[in-house]
Amino acid sequence: MFKASRRDVVIASGLATAFGLSSRLVITPALAQKTPDPARGHVTYKVGTADVTAVYDGIWEKPHDPAFVANASVDDVKAAMAKAGLPEDFVSIPFTVAVVRTGGKTVLCDAGTGGQVQPTAGRFMANFKAAGFDPDKVDTILISHCHPDHIFGLMEKDTNRPVFPNAEIIIADAEYKFWTDPAVINRLPDARKGLARRIQATFPNWKNIKQVAGEAEVAPGMRLVATPGHTPGHRAFHLASGASQLMLSNDTCYVPALVVANPGWRGVYDQDGASAEASRRKLMDRVIADKIGISGYHFPFPGVGTIARDGNGYALTVDKA
Ligand SMILES: [Zn+2]
Repeated sequence: MFKASRRDVVIASGLATAFGLSSRLVITPALAQKTPDPARGHVTYKVGTADVTAVYDGIWEKPHDPAFVANASVDDVKAAMAKAGLPEDFVSIPFTVAVVRTGGKTVLCDAGTGGQVQPTAGRFMANFKAAGFDPDKVDTILISHCHPDHIFGLMEKDTNRPVFPNAEIIIADAEYKFWTDPAVINRLPDARKGLARRIQATFPNWKNIKQVAGEAEVAPGMRLVATPGHTPGHRAFHLASGASQLMLSNDTCYVPALVVANPGWRGVYDQDGASAEASRRKLMDRVIADKIGISGYHFPFPGVGTIARDGNGYALTVDKA
């Protein structure tokens, strides 16, 4: 059970006074987190001569929801979490931004939640600075797709002011066009309309966004990899340095305990389930065939490991922090 800290009590009694209430208000704690944060919020590993730093942004302990996976029950989801060695009373969704130092450039792979998605996230900037990085010296930000947990870190809360005005922000043309089309708002489910409005209020006014077609090289040794389905223009990122390679899958395999083990599960966050599955299988088969490492934005921290075939699905082994 959550035990109220002194600060929570003060806030609660302050609000009670403000509302003229005599009884104490009960406030749901924002940080009642069961999963311990990693001992270090940043971990650096080598891919050839490139340095990849996994920067921890927080974790969402998502309550179970029967609608989360269309073709799996809550009991199936719980069993999959347990099989991956994770707690089964919630879906564990960590957020980790990979920062790549390659060819003298500093490249962010997505931008974090900006502390605007879940109360238990928003640690990216503190951990990024603790790792020795400076937000004003980021050269390039690669955007995998436009879900809030990947792009809200680009914009200040309330003002939408750009957090990285000096960086070039690279996004697949298909993804940019989908979200900035004024007509998309009417087609999106209600839960996504606000996201599209925020994108349309910011991206078209920013001068440092570049749309990229195909699988172009976008930073030294880094290419986009077309992985549509999760969103229409989702892209993974491939890093090559010397003989070493890493596939930064981002949300292609978003919660690996669920969709790496069961690539055919239709998660609610995959906008087009069939193409998401096809992209996922193709990417994992490539990683296995090429014998290279794979990272993921929602993999257990530090979010990098190896994939192997396992029955009808796949199995991820994550390197320990
Ligand atoms: Zn995500």
